[in-house]
Amino acid sequence: MSRKIADSVQVPDQEWTAFVRENLLRWYDKNKRELPWRKNKDPYRIWVSEIMLQQTRVDTVIPYYERFMESFPDITALAKAKEEQVLKAWEGLGYYSRVRNLHQAVKEVAATYEAKVPTDPKAVASLRGIGDYTAGAILSIAFDQPVPAVDGNVMRVFSRWFALWDDIVKLSTRRKMGVLGTHLVPSDRPGDFNQALMELGALICTPVNPACGKCPVQATCQAYEQGVQAELPVKKKAKPPRPMRINMAWIRKGGGQVLLQCRPNEGLLAGMWGLPTMEAGQGELVPGDSLVPLLTEQEVPVEWGQVLGEFEHVFSHQRWQVTVVDGFVREDISVLPDGWRWANETERRRLAFPNVYRKAFALAEKRKKGLSGFQGRLL
Ligand code: SF4
Repeated sequence: MSRKIADSVQVPDQEWTAFVRENLLRWYDKNKRELPWRKNKDPYRIWVSEIMLQQTRVDTVIPYYERFMESFPDITALAKAKEEQVLKAWEGLGYYSRVRNLHQAVKEVAATYEAKVPTDPKAVASLRGIGDYTAGAILSIAFDQPVPAVDGNVMRVFSRWFALWDDIVKLSTRRKMGVLGTHLVPSDRPGDFNQALMELGALICTPVNPACGKCPVQATCQAYEQGVQAELPVKKKAKPPRPMRINMAWIRKGGGQVLLQCRPNEGLLAGMWGLPTMEAGQGELVPGDSLVPLLTEQEVPVEWGQVLGEFEHVFSHQRWQVTVVDGFVREDISVLPDGWRWANETERRRLAFPNVYRKAFALAEKRKKGLSGFQGRLL
């Protein structure tokens, strides 16, 4: 049933391939979910959905997607939008480099390709933020090109279906999966086939307790035959997030203005606005102390108030234990260096903030109003 086409990849023969394609597409036609990006084959809509779906669940993405599409219904609208508006529409979805790259790439498409997503695979793959998977999804779904689109769901399906014991985190394994995907994708309905594989991973061949009894490829699944579904895929455990103690300052001045600091252009939360933030040193007596050098450097004369509370926020590589400290500035400091600004409530509503800062705002504002209910601990 299989033949070897590369050193370490066995691909199925044509008869087997035709059989599973037919089964899978039949299952997809009956079971596919109605999702907003499946309403038509507009490449821009598909592109935005694929970027939003990276590291984010479908249910979370749907309301964001609908709002984003209302604000920026086509390439021209997104290309013309200010970065501040685009970030605001993304606020809460996280991984903001995704939307910055999307915005840049859309501007390039507007300027270079008359606001039409190119159909040439090299041109698509050269756009910012578009990797093999996203390019495959756009080209196959929007333009019916027979190219694979192997995302995390599909890797899990392939690992089990073909009983592959390679670590799916490794690039060499991804390449193998790409070879399999290239072999399997048909020239007729390639986009539906790719989506059928993704849907199979999302609905049936789930990470835990796959519903093998309902699976359209069960008769050909090697993991099922060997009873090893629960052991696959092999995925090397990521290191647990590094714990860090972080101090943030809620520094106010008259007119309800709060001091904001822009994050550095590289690294975690790059280029996003937030509260003045610093990693706490060891053995301090006052949590606000670590912020003092930062604010002295900016010549902000702060009168420190009380500790407002603390909360935890987990990123993929870091676990922040955050303490929020209150402060007040009496002098009229309106000129600040680049990357610093005051913002009143209206301006804060207009800006986009990463979730960790939204938590800090909620904590400070609730503390200020004497309300309870925030999940962090009020000190
Ligand atoms: Fe996944 Fe089970 Fe289907 Fe195999 S039979 S592909 S393990 S759901």
